[in-house]
Amino acid sequence: MGVRGTHAVIYLPHLRHNLREIRRRVGEGRMVCAAVKADAYGHGAVRVGRVLVEEGVEMLGVATPEEGAELVEAGVGARVLLLGLTDGAGLELAVEAGVELAVGDREYVREVVRVARAKGRRVRVHVEVDTGMGRTGCAPEEAVGVVEEVEGAGVLELAGMWTHFPSSDEADDGFTEAQVERFLQVVGRVRARGISPGLLHAANSGGIIGHPPSWLDMVRPGISLYGYYPSEEQERTLSLLPVMEFVSQVVFLKKVRKGTPVSYGRTWRAPRDTWIATVAAGYADGYSRLLSSRAEVLIRGRRYPVVGRVCMDQFMVDVGPHLEVARYDRVVLFGPDPAGPSAEELARLVGTIPYEITCAVSRRVPRVYV
Ligand code: PLP
Repeated sequence: MGVRGTHAVIYLPHLRHNLREIRRRVGEGRMVCAAVKADAYGHGAVRVGRVLVEEGVEMLGVATPEEGAELVEAGVGARVLLLGLTDGAGLELAVEAGVELAVGDREYVREVVRVARAKGRRVRVHVEVDTGMGRTGCAPEEAVGVVEEVEGAGVLELAGMWTHFPSSDEADDGFTEAQVERFLQVVGRVRARGISPGLLHAANSGGIIGHPPSWLDMVRPGISLYGYYPSEEQERTLSLLPVMEFVSQVVFLKKVRKGTPVSYGRTWRAPRDTWIATVAAGYADGYSRLLSSRAEVLIRGRRYPVVGRVCMDQFMVDVGPHLEVARYDRVVLFGPDPAGPSAEELARLVGTIPYEITCAVSRRVPRVYV
């Protein structure tokens, strides 16, 4: 396909399918703000953003001003919301690009006002209320003050109010429901002042899957769009298809005798005479060194174990005493094929979450969209 053997295939039909599943769950009438931060969790924000907008997604959520500006410059065509906070230079970039801003305290609102005035722009803002995440956003009792600061500025439009969940992906999580109640109490106080709070939004994938009261006006899915559950605890109520397949190829094969050490540190020795295949991907491509002698890969529909330490650009696989693998064979590191490893399986092996597995696939790995 005109790219080197190591690449990531991005199955856009799977992305469309996952979005439709999410819409089916929350109802067609609800708006969607798709989290495409971190280059769409490693899938490529511009391509992913375009497909989502084609499918009717109204808003795209990013973490940095540069991510927002990239989408706007590419003409993706949806509203863009900067969920993260930034400094004056970042605000200038975001405001120039027409990106909507999350705000969480009066001081930051004043900084946004300064930049909006300097640029002669009207800026839409979404006031974040911290109902239990403990990261950003104002305390519930401060929210009315922040909203009034926004309303009084003249150059800002209160486009929304939102909150975020730390544990919506846990089984029997009453905390999320309590957060929604707290959030709606704050919204009630804002309305009581005669102020329209704009779009109310809270639900990440965990909320979408497990907490209907959190759906409000707009949902903010991330990981579920890319085909994974946020955790293994939640009931599998959506049919999700992994979007990314991380692929490499065999570039070398050699027969080794029993006892032969393989890779740095000589931590693995052949337990019998066997064939070793060298695969052209390593931790610099985003295949974690923690997978050394732990993970498996899929070659010609069969699983084989990774042996010895994963190197920066290569790792080795024990393909057994009877050679059934050839040079340049395709090797699947993870992906949607149920026969092979998934990002969830790799995440489990290294003690992390699938988010980190797809985000880690590095820039030098070409993305191929099918
Ligand atoms: N909303 C905010 C503010 C986020 O930070 C994130 C991601 O962490 C999301 C939504 C999407 O979350 P998830 O990928 O769990 O669906």
